[in-house]
Amino acid sequence: MSTTMSGTVQASSQDPYIAGFEVYAKENGSLTGSINAYVQDVNKTVRSVGYVGKEVSLPQPTKVMDGVYTVVGSLIWHNPSNFGLNNNLSWIEFEDGVFVFNAGPNPAVAHSFHQIIKRHTNKPVKWLAVENSQGHAYLGASYWYDVGVRNMYSHSQANSDFANGYQQIKASWARAVGQAITQDARDVSDKFTEFDDKLVINVGGGETVELLNFGPGHTPGSTLAYIPSRNLLFTGDVGYNKRSLAFFSYTNVGYWIDTFKAMKAAMPEDVVVVPGHGAPTDMATITRDTLGYMEYLTKEVQKKIDAGQKEEDMSSIDQSMYKDRPVFQQTHEHNTVHIYKELTGGDLGMSFE
Ligand SMILES: [Zn+2]
Repeated sequence: MSTTMSGTVQASSQDPYIAGFEVYAKENGSLTGSINAYVQDVNKTVRSVGYVGKEVSLPQPTKVMDGVYTVVGSLIWHNPSNFGLNNNLSWIEFEDGVFVFNAGPNPAVAHSFHQIIKRHTNKPVKWLAVENSQGHAYLGASYWYDVGVRNMYSHSQANSDFANGYQQIKASWARAVGQAITQDARDVSDKFTEFDDKLVINVGGGETVELLNFGPGHTPGSTLAYIPSRNLLFTGDVGYNKRSLAFFSYTNVGYWIDTFKAMKAAMPEDVVVVPGHGAPTDMATITRDTLGYMEYLTKEVQKKIDAGQKEEDMSSIDQSMYKDRPVFQQTHEHNTVHIYKELTGGDLGMSFE
């Protein structure tokens, strides 16, 4: 077998259909040439258009202001019915082109979101930034690269966390959302421009996008986008509107509180907010729903620790005022235990989201 063949197997081994052809080619010497050509053709096609398949039906975009739209993802867990879109995908139209915030959870959603953008504007997508290292921020990035987007940005910590966890993150999202729409996703984190605290991008017409990081929290690394000329802020998962907060193994609630406060201090009071989860809103709302919730829970957990209570006692903390929030049932008990472990040095486990 030639070296070209083994290269092909490596590049496409995640697609069971293609992999099947490759095994067949190996077993049938006389057909090897033509089957390999076919396999290479399919791979080439995927890479030239980013995604081969039907447009999936996403929610209608919400107009935030002139030239700014967000597709507000499902407020429940990612699953096949929402195609994994349970955060927000946004775009901003500038003089020189379109800025996209979040890549989508897979190439199918990225492609479908791109079609929505194209029905609103003829301007090309020129920039992409992703909110953090999670699958729904990142896994669609190879689609954007394949369709020619070359200005891709992420916080340095988020970019390396995604690169290191790529296999597990992709497997976890494919399991939850569907193999078929996830399999074409590739790790293109090496194509990203990284930043640490602040990166200013000139987007034409005298406008800029400021990519900002105020510290760890929901994820160790995160990217916020602030557009001063429009008084507009994309908080990523630093800010939630209505949806119950989810604490993963890598979440540090204490840091998140500090990070939220630093963000709030740096932003105009009347800034328009597109949060990580939930509809566009204002700073007062995400302060109540995000910072307020974390401060309340932390205070209540600390009271119980001070009274000598243990992990199993955390479930008696009253969270009835938050019970109507989406995914409250799936998160509220775990959230108190997470803070308990954080404050007592417990093991927070491992998760790949
Ligand atoms: Zn998220």
